[in-house]
Amino acid sequence: MHKTLATLPVAVIGAGPIGLSAAVHLLNRGYTPIIFEAGTQAGAHLARWGHVRMFSPWSYNIDPAAVELLNQGNWTEPSLAKFPTGKELLEHYVLPLANHPKIASHLHLNNRVLHVSRCNHDVLRTKGRDDTPFVLRIAGPDGEHDVTAQAVIDASGTYQTPNWLGAHGIPALGENAASNAIRYGVPDVLGVDRAHYTDKSVLVVGGGHSAFNALQDLVRLSEQSAGMQVHWAVRSESVTNVVRSPANDELQERRALEVHIQALLEQDRIHVHTGIEVDTISQDGNRLIVHSNGKSLPPVDRIIAATGFRPDLSVLSELRTTIDPATQSPTRLAPLIDPNMHSCGSVPEHGAAELSHPESNLYIVGIKSYGRAPTFLLRTGYKQVLSVISALDSEEEPTPVQPCAAPTCPG
Ligand SMILES: Cc1cc2nc3c(=O)[nH]c(=O)nc-3n(C[C@H](O)[C@H](O)[C@H](O)COP(=O)(O)OP(=O)(O)OC[C@H]3O[C@@H](n4cnc5c(N)ncnc54)[C@H](O)[C@@H]3O)c2cc1C
Repeated sequence: MHKTLATLPVAVIGAGPIGLSAAVHLLNRGYTPIIFEAGTQAGAHLARWGHVRMFSPWSYNIDPAAVELLNQGNWTEPSLAKFPTGKELLEHYVLPLANHPKIASHLHLNNRVLHVSRCNHDVLRTKGRDDTPFVLRIAGPDGEHDVTAQAVIDASGTYQTPNWLGAHGIPALGENAASNAIRYGVPDVLGVDRAHYTDKSVLVVGGGHSAFNALQDLVRLSEQSAGMQVHWAVRSESVTNVVRSPANDELQERRALEVHIQALLEQDRIHVHTGIEVDTISQDGNRLIVHSNGKSLPPVDRIIAATGFRPDLSVLSELRTTIDPATQSPTRLAPLIDPNMHSCGSVPEHGAAELSHPESNLYIVGIKSYGRAPTFLLRTGYKQVLSVISALDSEEEPTPVQPCAAPTCPG
């Protein structure tokens, strides 16, 4: 690396759990991190799903390197076998880490990264590229400014860019017009969003654990709200395989949630609609009607789109990335996580080799690195940043992990 380049900070985009972990590893290796967080606090995305109980225990959710730093102060380690909510993870881990003096002095809240490029090098220009600083355009409280960096670690997550309800991957016809009655992700049905759902007919769309969380809360709310109806629409032709995790699943809370949904289905507490590919949403007065291939679902008052998330890659469009066209993850990571090839959540360990791009010293990490694949775990992200930051100062290119020829699910 060019000498003057090496004196610049390493930019980290996003102060979620993985971005903060990257900052800890950077400090441990003698780099100066500069962390940009779009939100008013670190863990801004976590705060939006703070009411959700995580299915991985504390032991999976914290980075040993960060724990070492926190233990230098008066932090009390949580009980490792317990399962925190998003809010507990935020309050007992992410915020203490962000507020640690060694991190806080490098953290810039309310600073959104709008674009990343290389100084005087648009994406087309090759000569001298690797020795040229990155330039990040930042929108902060005082307007826009540029910052230079020797490397960029993008840990900006995906929660801000949910998938559409539309089965084509684009908005369903009428989806934008109905946006007042649609929430994306996992709304806080029993908390701040309670009034929005009380006494309403609600349709949850999506087949994953976010949908299960929303359904579980809606059924609980319906116990105190006689006028409520809970509907669930999935693409699959049946919902007989709700309990997907093995009996000895390490992530016991994941299986417990699946078993609970199975029980609610058996008790007919949820109206199930299978084989639904949402193409149109029409409105009848205040009510919404979802249409799928000529079939119409019963009118509802509210819709929850638990249809997953996608990465916003536009920030990196002036850089030479290599992105898998299907998963939208870095190309070499894709075969390890592609849900078309893996039905279970077990992903081989991977690191800098799988996460690298033709652009030197650029890495996408954390949940954003998984693109549209839904199986990311924090534990994986902590290993990613350890590997990536070790690779920043190594001369040799790391060897990629071989994808499993025939991935098998436990149980
Ligand atoms: C409901 C739900 C439950 C989950 N449960 C689990 C679980 O049980 N176990 C598990 O291991 N994982 C779980 N995950 C998955 C994953 O671990 C979390 O999504 C986790 O928050 C990912 O961490 P991250 O740091 O990669 O991204 P995020 O936490 O999403 O952080 C990204 C940060 O970047 C900021 N940002 C975004 N764009 C910009 C920008 N342009 N400039 C500056 N800052 C920006 C955001 O404000 C945010 O603070 C869950 C996810 C969800 C949504």
